[in-house]
Amino acid sequence: MKTAFLDRDGTINRDYPDSQWSGKTVPEMIPGAVEGLRFLQKQGYALIMITNQYVIGEGYIILEEYQNFTDSLIHRLAENGIQLLDIFYCPHRRDAGCGCCKPKPGMIEQALEKYPEMDLTQAILIGDSAGDRILAQSLGIPFYEIAEEGRHPQKNWRSVCEAVRE
Ligand SMILES: [Mg+2]
Ligand SMILES: [Zn+2]
Repeated sequence: MKTAFLDRDGTINRDYPDSQWSGKTVPEMIPGAVEGLRFLQKQGYALIMITNQYVIGEGYIILEEYQNFTDSLIHRLAENGIQLLDIFYCPHRRDAGCGCCKPKPGMIEQALEKYPEMDLTQAILIGDSAGDRILAQSLGIPFYEIAEEGRHPQKNWRSVCEAVRE
């Protein structure tokens, strides 16, 4: 099984400053994300989201807010024919010393344990932050960056799709 590991915030939906996450219930999609995910799905990638949610552990939002937002995102993707295989999230404080907060590999290890048919040599990782990049590098899997709109015009979902197609 070839897998695309996907960051969530800033990659699929817009990210916000920590203090502004509370009360967010409807994802604002990153341009091209829906089309990009649909493309990856068509290419045969299983889609697995791995997302740092220290905003839970650090008290910016409660777990229920995370779940509501996630449900809304899943619904939005499903409306567009996109099915995520799974979602792994790290709810811990950044200073908790857990093994799952990216760039630590814990969420990918959890995924490998749950899906033994997963082939890491065929995996890719798509994200917008240094943590995502470092994690991909440490695992030796290709990293594709989604940059904040306008900052790196060549690092967007369109360029990800083109690179994956090659
Ligand atoms: Mg992100
Ligand atoms: Zn964690």
